[in-house]
Amino acid sequence: MIDSHCHLDLPAFQGDWQSVISHATSAGLTRILIPGTQVSQWSTQLAIQSYANQNTKPISIDIACGLHPYFLSTHETDNDSALSILERLLSQSSARMVALGEIGLDGHIALPMLRQKEIFEVQLRLASEYALPVILHHRKSHHLIFESLKKTGFAEGGVIHAFSGSIEVAKAYIEKGFYIGVGGTITYDRAKKTKETIVYLLKHHPDRLLLETDSPDMPMQGRQGARNSPEYLGEVLEALGKLGEYDTQTLDAITTQNYFTLFHNTLFRNSQKKA
Ligand SMILES: [Zn+2]
Repeated sequence: MIDSHCHLDLPAFQGDWQSVISHATSAGLTRILIPGTQVSQWSTQLAIQSYANQNTKPISIDIACGLHPYFLSTHETDNDSALSILERLLSQSSARMVALGEIGLDGHIALPMLRQKEIFEVQLRLASEYALPVILHHRKSHHLIFESLKKTGFAEGGVIHAFSGSIEVAKAYIEKGFYIGVGGTITYDRAKKTKETIVYLLKHHPDRLLLETDSPDMPMQGRQGARNSPEYLGEVLEALGKLGEYDTQTLDAITTQNYFTLFHNTLFRNSQKKA
């Protein structure tokens, strides 16, 4: 099992990420992707990756970097300088990243949408320049994300993480080369619309599904109020199994293959570029 979206570098895990990794290993995970949220976390992401490389085989850590809308500043100059640092980071270390993200648009934060879009579009253009797929964050913003994808002509694909939405929206992302991140939402009885969409995707596009926890956020049903953790990823897999079509073992194999198709083609491309 691969957790394609886990914020192991955030303060919620600061004291015990090593033991979180070992619990995840015992729970059967083989790989975790840590998306970026802000420039200052980059060194923590790298430190966790180095630790995993040396100490916790067979689990591997992939990393991405980007400016998450939640962590943007209300001071314009801060965001401008974060973008230039990100640009420098990419020029020096893009070979260490499997994607650019987590980036996106959030309808619930104070920063005006117009400014969010500008920052999002700069990052989409950077991802194009480095041929990196993107990890997308959405909240009441699917239509605006499509506007930006169109405006920038972004064509590297990626994942729309913690997907919730209709079949039509999911199909539109798939047509643009995106994968659909399936997380704890489907463990809840109330998530009718999203579950209906996932049932459709299991039937028609199983090759576009990825598993994720979004730890420390998005706890599974029955664990509300507690810190989410990659060791619970199996609960997402089980919930997916209950939606029909495949047993959990097959779903594990399919989603693992999907992960490598999306993110490790990037590593391959980057190593070619470097050589
Ligand atoms: Zn996230």
